[in-house]
Amino acid sequence: MKIEELNKIIRGCKKCRLSETRTNAICGEGNLNAKIMLIAQAPGEKEDIEGKMFVGPSGKVIDELLNEAGIKRDEIYMTNLIKCMLPKNRKPKQDEIEACSHYLNEEIKLINPKILAPLGYYATCYIFKKYNLPSPSKAEFSSIFGKLFLAEDKKILPLPHPATCLYNPEFKKDLIKSYRKLKVLLNDCKWYPVCPMKRFYEEGKLDKKWIELYCKGDWESCVRYQMEEKGEFHPDWMLPDGSLDERLKRR
Ligand code: SF4
Repeated sequence: MKIEELNKIIRGCKKCRLSETRTNAICGEGNLNAKIMLIAQAPGEKEDIEGKMFVGPSGKVIDELLNEAGIKRDEIYMTNLIKCMLPKNRKPKQDEIEACSHYLNEEIKLINPKILAPLGYYATCYIFKKYNLPSPSKAEFSSIFGKLFLAEDKKILPLPHPATCLYNPEFKKDLIKSYRKLKVLLNDCKWYPVCPMKRFYEEGKLDKKWIELYCKGDWESCVRYQMEEKGEFHPDWMLPDGSLDERLKRR
């Protein structure tokens, strides 16, 4: 199936009760070859009326956050877990998620992004479940935003929903920090070509997760990277999380 065919089906969908209260079912938008897919919860009122992604108040926030991160909308693909507006911005119901998430699954197959960035609680829970990652409890939830997870052939970066800023402007600084990770993920670590981790990996001595999560992922959080930047000594057998792997020393 092509994306145009999928979008045609989405626009005419009547699989759940939300089709009765929407004006438009909103399809994903953006770069069809994107490395990053942002997955929001559902369209708001303005999106419902205009038939486009992120044109309402949350859209203004996301543009600001992407701008701060140095990312343009046309570099990424943006979509929703639920394609129709939730009346009075209520929470999505489980049967609505079940009815609609098939479209998101198809979009992931068609666009095939390397990085999925679910925004907020419901989109993150759905993506974690889909990729068999243990679901964090409600209390732990905010601590996973801005952290990178590895699952099958995808990297997952849960981010706070931009609407958080509308209700709690004091969280804006934290949101900017989390969204900046998107830019980090677009490029590999500049030290990778000469890093001992690359050598250990190519020699079959190091698990791939270290390379994917740090060297080709969130290199900014790598302890080796941080020490390299400060010109501080660190042994070759120090892993990206700062722990020492004595087995690498012996090899
Ligand atoms: S281990 Fe750290 S410093 Fe080395 S390439 Fe990976 S991210 Fe960069």
